[in-house]
Amino acid sequence: MERLIEGYKRFLTEVFPERKNYFHLLAEGQAPKYLFITCADSRVSPEMVFGIEPGNMAIARSLGSMVPPAGSENNGITATIEYAVEILGVRHAIIFCHSNCGSVRSALAPGGLKKLPYAQKWMEYVRTAANYRQPLDPNDGKNAELNALAKGNVLAQLANLRTQPSVAKALTEGRLNVHGWYYDIESGRVERYDEAQKRFVPLV
Ligand SMILES: [Zn+2]
Repeated sequence: MERLIEGYKRFLTEVFPERKNYFHLLAEGQAPKYLFITCADSRVSPEMVFGIEPGNMAIARSLGSMVPPAGSENNGITATIEYAVEILGVRHAIIFCHSNCGSVRSALAPGGLKKLPYAQKWMEYVRTAANYRQPLDPNDGKNAELNALAKGNVLAQLANLRTQPSVAKALTEGRLNVHGWYYDIESGRVERYDEAQKRFVPLV
């Protein structure tokens, strides 16, 4: 816990005083433009990758960056998406999966999560990733197969996202864009799925 207390002290004495006005502004409300739907993985920090400050990015995190399809039982991810689209009015919803994803790995390994009933049930949403599996990237080495599936998971979750009623409605009304992105932890590269080319291409 010491690490957290030290960090908090630094926030109170250095970070907050420097940005006091900004935090006062934030206290009035939020109007984030982006909703990131990403993994609970501690290595994935979209705020750091894209240099986004508090107040500008809503984040829905879960094992494997999952989006349950429409009609699934009520859950935190679906509720967060609905709120972000309808109340916060985000303009972009981004599925943000990553390399070497332990959730994707264990979800696709037979009996991988046998002792974790909740996680195992949640992971059923990753099954369709195999239908969208992407070509192997030789740069991925021993993780090539896993990462091909992790990229497939981007497309699987993107398909689920489009089925969410709030998302479908916002897409029809032209007030929301959806994106499928993949983040390689080792190199820092981000790729986006290009619908026209039917493949992942560098974001920049
Ligand atoms: Zn992950």
